[in-house]
Amino acid sequence: MSPAPHTKPSTSLASRIRSILGAERTLDRPEDLALYQYDGSIDIALPDVVAFPQTTEEVIAIVKIAAELDVPLVGRGAGTGLSGGSIARAGGLMISFARMNRIIEIDLANECAVLEPGVVNLDISLAVDADGYFYAPDPSSQRACTIGGNVSENAGGPHTLAYGVTTNHVLGLEAVLPDGSLIQVGGKSVETQPGLDLLGLLVGSEGTMVLVTKIIVRLMRKPEAVKTALAIFERPEHAGDAVARMTADAITPAAVEMLDGVLLRMVEESCHAGYPVDAGAVLLIEIEGLRESVDEQVEQVRAACIASGAREFRLAKDAKERELLWKGRKNAFGAIGRVSPAYYVQDGVVPRTQIAPTLSLILDVARRYNLTIGNIFHAGDGNLHPLICFDPKVPGELDRVLKAGDEILEHCIAVGGSITGEHGVGMEKMEMMGRQFSPESLAMIARFKKLFDPTCRLNPGKALPTGHGCREIRQVAHDLRY
Ligand SMILES: Cc1cc2nc3c(=O)[nH]c(=O)nc-3n(C[C@H](O)[C@H](O)[C@H](O)COP(=O)(O)OP(=O)(O)OC[C@H]3O[C@@H](n4cnc5c(N)ncnc54)[C@H](O)[C@@H]3O)c2cc1C
Repeated sequence: MSPAPHTKPSTSLASRIRSILGAERTLDRPEDLALYQYDGSIDIALPDVVAFPQTTEEVIAIVKIAAELDVPLVGRGAGTGLSGGSIARAGGLMISFARMNRIIEIDLANECAVLEPGVVNLDISLAVDADGYFYAPDPSSQRACTIGGNVSENAGGPHTLAYGVTTNHVLGLEAVLPDGSLIQVGGKSVETQPGLDLLGLLVGSEGTMVLVTKIIVRLMRKPEAVKTALAIFERPEHAGDAVARMTADAITPAAVEMLDGVLLRMVEESCHAGYPVDAGAVLLIEIEGLRESVDEQVEQVRAACIASGAREFRLAKDAKERELLWKGRKNAFGAIGRVSPAYYVQDGVVPRTQIAPTLSLILDVARRYNLTIGNIFHAGDGNLHPLICFDPKVPGELDRVLKAGDEILEHCIAVGGSITGEHGVGMEKMEMMGRQFSPESLAMIARFKKLFDPTCRLNPGKALPTGHGCREIRQVAHDLRY
């Protein structure tokens, strides 16, 4: 299934890797490789070998073997990516960072932590919770996804609204280039680092420029007070209006998440979070800060929601109720598995004032393509996640799903938004890049990629559209879908 345009016989690759990592940390049997053909997207392709290094030195050694044999390379965290980023599209060597998962240092005096790339996102906050600190970027997949994957995708999450995305919290990186050389970028005191902002360039480079082997992240002090509210609306457009109204009234909650009626019913059936199943939409709103200011802000948020037509504004009474409300949001994707054999999650961005009209457009798209589409998203950032349900066994259904998804993204571009908010371009949205960027801008991005990866072996066939990538993969992404 997977194209391997320039892979040397995988047996020599496997035996060379095995000589460094041993048999237990080198996979090349088809039944072992099969698991690694997936990530969280609908794309699939088989690697030739999967390797599990435990140290930076081992990463360097196996990357040098891949360079010598001229085989493609792809890094892998937990494989929760939603754009095909960690799929070995051209075969070759997959480097899993699952066994590089140590928290190397927690330095509270400098409010930072030094991590291996395989550390699970939530484990960072858990490690410093008792000291009153947390790591801010909180993807909904945070119980599984790794910091290496977060850095590569520049992951966001519900609290991005107040705290920013991964790039705002990475202070330093250690990384291996595709020829095996090691670079250091930034450090614990990144504000005083001289020179180009290479951190800014590498965070979000989707595993196409370097393999990250160490990460220094910023730790934040936990807020003094937190309140969580559920605003309930008859119509999704009214919830969209409320988001725009909060911004216009200069209110910035820590998080504003929206679930529409379709998703509410699916999630409530599975998670029993206390969501109203008869509503058109809810906003899950979190307000944080100093104790005195939080109550005042809650009242401002309540007023904005009521003015936009909320039928009820419910404040969680205690930590248990807060947790339950968030449990519904964070487990929503899993809940869909109970009602649909598969789903395709889109990731577009629109200006906040365009949320309400965009929700109407998505309803219309669902009707025209005869598909069920639920919406769950980071409304405060205008970052939409329409979830399109489908059955891969129904002939032609996936085609309709892809066309519906494209139509939604075209709309995002047309209203001044973007084709991805946090899930990356990967192999899924490569061709859409040509609609978002001019040929000159794409050529510039390709030149940056080649500076780091002149032989174009690192995660080929990702992020740049056909004609702009440096080593073209003949099959279009659609041929690599189940
Ligand atoms: C249920 C669910 C909810 C989600 N919610 C969110 C959300 O709220 N916000 C959000 O931003 N995303 C979300 N995601 C998407 C996904 O979890 C993120 O993109 C996450 O950052 C991927 O991390 P990972 O460890 O799974 O990486 P993978 O999927 O394994 O890899 C992702 C990319 O990173 C590269 N990579 C991984 N490790 C390294 C490394 N050490 N060096 C170089 N490249 C590397 C891979 O090559 C690939 O290109 C969600 C996914 C799911 C399934």
